[in-house]
Amino acid sequence: MVNLKALEVWFVTGSQSLYGEETLRQVAEHSKTIAGSLNDATQIPVKVIYKPTVKSTEEIYSICMEANTSKNCIGIIAWMHTFSPAKMWISGLKILQKPLCHLHTQFNRDIPWNDIDMDFMNLNQSAHGDREFGFMVSRMRMNRKVVVGHWQDPEVLVELNTWTRAAAGWNDWQGAKFVRFGDNMRFVAVTDGDKVEAEYKFGYAVNTHGIGDLVEVIDQTSDAAIDLLISEYEEQYTLVPSLKKGGAQYSSLRDAAKIEIGMRAFLEEGDYKGFTDTFEDLHGMTQLPGIASQRLMASGYGFAGEGDWKTAALVRAMKVMGSGLEGGNSFMEDYTYHFDPSNPMVLGSHMLEICPSIAVGKPSCQIHPLGIGGKADPVRLVFNAAAGPAINASLIDMGNRFRLLVNEVEAVAPMHDLPKLPVARVLWKPYPDMKTGCAAWILAGGAHHTGYSQNLTAENMQDFAEMANIEFALIGKNTNLYQFKNELRWNEVYYQINK
Ligand code: MN
Repeated sequence: MVNLKALEVWFVTGSQSLYGEETLRQVAEHSKTIAGSLNDATQIPVKVIYKPTVKSTEEIYSICMEANTSKNCIGIIAWMHTFSPAKMWISGLKILQKPLCHLHTQFNRDIPWNDIDMDFMNLNQSAHGDREFGFMVSRMRMNRKVVVGHWQDPEVLVELNTWTRAAAGWNDWQGAKFVRFGDNMRFVAVTDGDKVEAEYKFGYAVNTHGIGDLVEVIDQTSDAAIDLLISEYEEQYTLVPSLKKGGAQYSSLRDAAKIEIGMRAFLEEGDYKGFTDTFEDLHGMTQLPGIASQRLMASGYGFAGEGDWKTAALVRAMKVMGSGLEGGNSFMEDYTYHFDPSNPMVLGSHMLEICPSIAVGKPSCQIHPLGIGGKADPVRLVFNAAAGPAINASLIDMGNRFRLLVNEVEAVAPMHDLPKLPVARVLWKPYPDMKTGCAAWILAGGAHHTGYSQNLTAENMQDFAEMANIEFALIGKNTNLYQFKNELRWNEVYYQINK
């Protein structure tokens, strides 16, 4: 996966020359201490780099310019220890292309009741210095995250963690390439969309390869490479007897391994961060990639079925955001409902392709017929997913804008074995409740395909949407349908005006 520690956020403190050398020396010292402490905090997954205090229009412009062109800088944390007249920030903020977090903090946590004097007041002005800065960012209608509290406060560290992870996901999209093997599933609406607008808005490119290009690479796979991968399957999964060496369907397992090796080679060769395929376009392939897509997702590739490039890209970003955290992220689909009024829930799954990063226990490697696609039986990993809080996220193209929709859910342990269900599965309860959650999702036009996450929160996704400057809609514990419908209507007007 992605090593987040290779990425940097820059800690930039604003001030002005007016205060004189001694005060500015202390400002710099305090800033170094805070940046160092954030850098060392285990809660923050990226490096936090101290930058010299900026005191003029020119210095601010330069640091923003530098941040834009720095490959490793994924965002700026700004703090005004003293007063930093905000007209000085206009030209810099105007060109800033990296995400911005405004840390509204103060060097000392408490007021030193007995010692406080005008020198202290002169130095510790963030309570009003940060307001001047905040005004300018609002005046310029810029999205940013505002984090309030003492820099050692664990809650502040959690919020900074959330934002830096979103910034890492956003950074990963810039210049990213996604490949589609075949086009969209025919006639399907929600998985389609404007790829030109997506590249302009999100920074990633989506291009298609005919399935023949992939088949050519798959066919170059050596028997030795297949043997090696099969021994990995044997080690990591419980193989059903028919897939074991000498079993009736062992050759299907070899076909599946061959597909995985070929796809991996194709993705590496093209420097792709994710892919889609579709069961309607498998010309020259023996089976729909099942275990291949599952394992490629587990390696960090974004994936979605049926040509759904928006969800594939979203799954990739979510994997980057969740990098290093317990739990996983997967492509998901709301499949079937349990409408028992005393215990309603959703069964999430797909034809085959759920990522084993969300599995509880050792997945079982199985083979079953697939009713659609007209190909040989595909090999897949079957497992249950862990219980606990999770989210479903869907990125949809509303025609005049993209909307990121998130539903907070609670995954529950399966009450039954589901012995005849030949796919990986998750059971969850949507918040605020089944009826409201599902109605709100449908009213918002949310897709049946989602990115499902065990380790990200709605706040990660909101920060991410703000970096992308797109609409964000949340269905969570406090959602009420009346309010939610109004929010969607009001957003409609907002996005017509704010183009
Ligand atoms: Mn699907």
